[in-house]
Amino acid sequence: MTKKMQSLVCRECGKEYPTQDIHVCELCFGPLEVKYDYTAIKQVMTKEKILSGPPSLWRYADLLPVEGTNYVGLHAGYTPLVHAKNLGHFLGLDHLYIKNDCVNHPTLSFKDRVVAVAMTRARELGFETVACASTGNLANSVSAHAASAGMACYVFIPGDLEAAKVLGNLIYKPNVVEIEGNYDDVNRLCSEIAGERRWAFVNINIRPYYAEGSKTLAFETVEQLGWRAPDQVVVPMASGSLLTKIWKGLKEFEKIGLVDSVPTKVNGAQAEGCSPIATAHLNGRDFFKPVKPKTIAKSLAIGNPADGYYALKATAETQGAMDMVTDEEIVESIKLLAQTEGIFAETAGGVTIGVLQKLVKKGHIKRNDVTVAYITGNGLKTQEAVVDAVGRPFRIQPHLSHFTKTFGIEEQA
Ligand SMILES: *Cc1c(COP(=O)(O)O)cnc(C)c1O
Ligand SMILES: [Zn+2]
Repeated sequence: MTKKMQSLVCRECGKEYPTQDIHVCELCFGPLEVKYDYTAIKQVMTKEKILSGPPSLWRYADLLPVEGTNYVGLHAGYTPLVHAKNLGHFLGLDHLYIKNDCVNHPTLSFKDRVVAVAMTRARELGFETVACASTGNLANSVSAHAASAGMACYVFIPGDLEAAKVLGNLIYKPNVVEIEGNYDDVNRLCSEIAGERRWAFVNINIRPYYAEGSKTLAFETVEQLGWRAPDQVVVPMASGSLLTKIWKGLKEFEKIGLVDSVPTKVNGAQAEGCSPIATAHLNGRDFFKPVKPKTIAKSLAIGNPADGYYALKATAETQGAMDMVTDEEIVESIKLLAQTEGIFAETAGGVTIGVLQKLVKKGHIKRNDVTVAYITGNGLKTQEAVVDAVGRPFRIQPHLSHFTKTFGIEEQA
C-alpha cells in the first residue's frame, strides 16, 4: 500500500513532524495539519473506486488521515443532499441544495464525521481514553463512539447546554464534566489536562486528524452534484475549522482530478451574539477580536475561535462573504427550513439559513448559482430555542363534533 499520509506540517512555517499525537509547532506555535502524497493518491482514488465504496465517509478513506481499516464509526457520513426546490423558490434560487447532516449516524450532527476519523486515528496511535472540549454535539458523538469502541471517555461541556445535549451524553455513560463557565473556559481547562495525561482529546492533541473528517462534507457534495463543485457554499462557524476544511476538500478533489475546476465561493455564517469571525470579515480585517458569547446558537458559541484566522483567509481567497443573524432571525429561519423542506435543524441550521437569506438579499448569491447550505445538526437537540415559537396542538375531547367545530368544517353525511 502507498503511504498516503506523509507528515504533519506547520501551517505557518512549514516545519514537518511525524504523524503522531502532536498539534502545535515547537518552533512557532503554529497549528499542524496533515500533509498527503497527492501524486500517489491520484493513482488509486478514482470515481469508480469511490462509487464502489461503502455508503459512509470511509468511501473517501484515501484522503483521510488513517493508516489501517479498523474503523471506529462505520456508518458516519454519506448524508442526503436535498434539492431544496421550495426554499429555493422562496429565496429566488434555482439550484439550492441542503446538505442534511441532521441525520448523521449515530448522534445526528456533523460531528459524527470528525469523531469517526479522530477516534480511528486515536486507536491507531494506541490511546485507550478519549476526551473532548465541546459546545454540545461533539460530546454527544465522542460519548456514543466511545461506548461502541469500548474506550474510556471524558467529555467536558459548558454549564448552560440544552437538556437534550446533556442527556445525549449521559445515556452512553461516559464521565460528563460540566464546567461552570463558557466553552472558552472549558477549552482552556482541557488543554491543561491534555498536557498532563495521555488521553486523546479529539479536538486538542488529535485535532489535525479530527479536522480532516470535515472534508468529507465537501467530497460528498461534489459526488452528489454529479462530480462538480458548487458555485456557493454557506457554512456555519464555531472554531472555523469546518469552513476551512470544506475548502481544503474541494481543492483536493481538483488536485487529484475528480473535478475540473473549483469556482466555489466559501461563505461563513455566525450568530450576532458570537460573531468574532464574521465581524472581522465585515470590517475588512484579517484577524478577529475574541468575544464573550451570548446566543441561542450554543453549538457555535466559541468566543476565541482556533481556526478563525484561517476561515477569514479561505473566505477572502474565494471572494466569499460572511454575515451574522440575530436570535430572532435564527428561530424564524429554523421554522422556514422546516416549513418549506420538512427538515428540522438545530440553531446552527437557523444561522446558516438566516445568513443564506442575507447573502441572497445583498446580491452576493445569485439565482443561477449552484448553492449548498450546510445544515449541521438536528432540531430535536435544541428544542428550547423554538418551543415558544411554534404554537400548541388543538386539544379536544374524543368526539367527532368537537373535531368538526374546531376546524369549522361540516360533518360528512
Ligand atoms: C461544531 C459545529 C459546527 C462547526 O464547528 P467548527 O468548530 O467551526 O468546525 C457547526 N455546526 C454544528 C451543529 C456544530 O456542532
Ligand atoms: Zn511552525
